[in-house]
Amino acid sequence: MGATTQLIHSIPVDPHTGAISVPIYQTSTFVQEAPGVNKGYDYARTGNPTRTVLENLIAQLEGGHTGVAFGSGLAAIDAVLKLLQSGDEIIAVDDIYGGAFRLFEQVYRKFGINVTYVDTTNPERVFNAITPNTKLIWIETPTNPTLKITDIEAIAKIARAHRCLLAVDNTFASPALQKPISLGADLVIHSGTKYLGGHSDLIAGLVVTKDKELGEKIKFLQNASGAILSPFDSWLLIRGIETLHLRIRQHGASARAIAAFLEQHPAVGKVFYPGLPTHPGHDIAARQSKGFGGIVSFTLKDDTQAAAKDFVTSTGLFKLAESLGGIKSLVSHPATMTHKTIPSEKRKAAGVADSLIRLSTGLEDTEDLLEDLRQALDKLLTRTPAGHAVQPEGRAKQPVVKAAVSA
Ligand SMILES: *Cc1c(COP(=O)(O)O)cnc(C)c1O
Repeated sequence: MGATTQLIHSIPVDPHTGAISVPIYQTSTFVQEAPGVNKGYDYARTGNPTRTVLENLIAQLEGGHTGVAFGSGLAAIDAVLKLLQSGDEIIAVDDIYGGAFRLFEQVYRKFGINVTYVDTTNPERVFNAITPNTKLIWIETPTNPTLKITDIEAIAKIARAHRCLLAVDNTFASPALQKPISLGADLVIHSGTKYLGGHSDLIAGLVVTKDKELGEKIKFLQNASGAILSPFDSWLLIRGIETLHLRIRQHGASARAIAAFLEQHPAVGKVFYPGLPTHPGHDIAARQSKGFGGIVSFTLKDDTQAAAKDFVTSTGLFKLAESLGGIKSLVSHPATMTHKTIPSEKRKAAGVADSLIRLSTGLEDTEDLLEDLRQALDKLLTRTPAGHAVQPEGRAKQPVVKAAVSA
């Protein structure tokens, strides 16, 4: 049976009414026949039938044992960190999601949990950073926004040899493309807000564990801390996941075409997309995932924040916004948006150049997306205000004359 057929038919028809859409159990408590005698549910923080359908669905999709649904991706990350104790150490990917970095540094560090950030694209660096206190390795692949690729299997081997857990934030790839548990990960984390939800209409997080024991621990932590996903948002996320494979296929097809188009446009500097054979992680990505995803990043030849700002305010279909993975295409400028608080030298060292632009390819017709990018990039070629005109290489700077560019 194909993955999509399996996905769609693993969502149960309601056994009580035959409802084909999963019912939203909007209730806080469940009536018991006698103390402790119930139908599997007693209080809705501990468990809710709508949430259970979602949790079983994501566990099945990721090929894990237990799924747990949280109120946000960060709440899911938070629950995984609570597996640790004071004195434990984490090794994390160096260009980790900013919100995870904030949680590690500004919340967990004060409880005595230290994090070492390493370039996990080189497994040897991970190996060398291990100490007797390392209890968790945290990776994302591809990363945001430069789409660096880490070899999940190679890192899993290192984690196993040192008896520490491997957690993979699989938000960017989604289980339609990549299944970290099958490559040796112990935990998979998602911001369900992105591709799983797929419509930019909810905030959610998920944890999937490889085995039952770890699943029970995460469930315990969720019930103890309370960061559950509501019945309505659980239903909405199920509805989003139903079309995951279809959406991811289209996101990927457009992203591939966009990456190829950007590579040959004269206003573009460097293109970051794991599907390009020139991408340093291409071979690993091709081996461990079924596709290369819907995110494309690139720099401009005129590597300035001013040029990037002109670009992101010139697109029409690509809307300027944070986040990713929805049906509408989005454009963002990390240097002045998501990575604004990082000192510029540190930001640049992490590959986030002044002009770096990140695209989240939506589900519009590919040709329309290409045309939108073409017109915004073409404008840069004639752009002249404030001395930022693109100068033909090897020629002295000409006095700047404001070009008459029509609106
Ligand atoms: C968005 C995101 C998160 C955080 O998820 P929220 O749902 O916003 O809390 C975590 N990891 C990655 C890779 C993300 O893109």
